[in-house]
Amino acid sequence: MTMHELSIAASIVESVTEAASAHPGARVKEVRLRVGALASVVEDSLKFCWGLATEGTPLAGAALAINTLPVIVHCDACGIDAEIAGVQSFRCPKCGELAADLRQGRELEIESIELEEPDPVLPNPVEEQA
Ligand SMILES: [Zn+2]
Repeated sequence: MTMHELSIAASIVESVTEAASAHPGARVKEVRLRVGALASVVEDSLKFCWGLATEGTPLAGAALAINTLPVIVHCDACGIDAEIAGVQSFRCPKCGELAADLRQGRELEIESIELEEPDPVLPNPVEEQA
């Protein structure tokens, strides 16, 4: 665990709490993140910190799902966007030229927040939907 992941978790908790406040009574079931391979986030560490950061808050028990995005660079020589195999070498997988024009890989953002609405109180029996 590092301070880095803990501060990321705390800031996600803040954003999600703010977003969820528009739905009073709803419980947050799952938060899904988009994390680029170059975002310097250790997934296990972030999940651990998420548990700590949500403890004692309305988000306690909410799951954290991480969608890892591969690194994509643009190659001028080929005119294509290509996924590189590893972050050690920024070379176009097609022609081998250096391709430092990063198109994806540094993302760290909330993709979705899944809410569980409280059980609605129905004054009348529910009619069958067509
Ligand atoms: Zn190329």
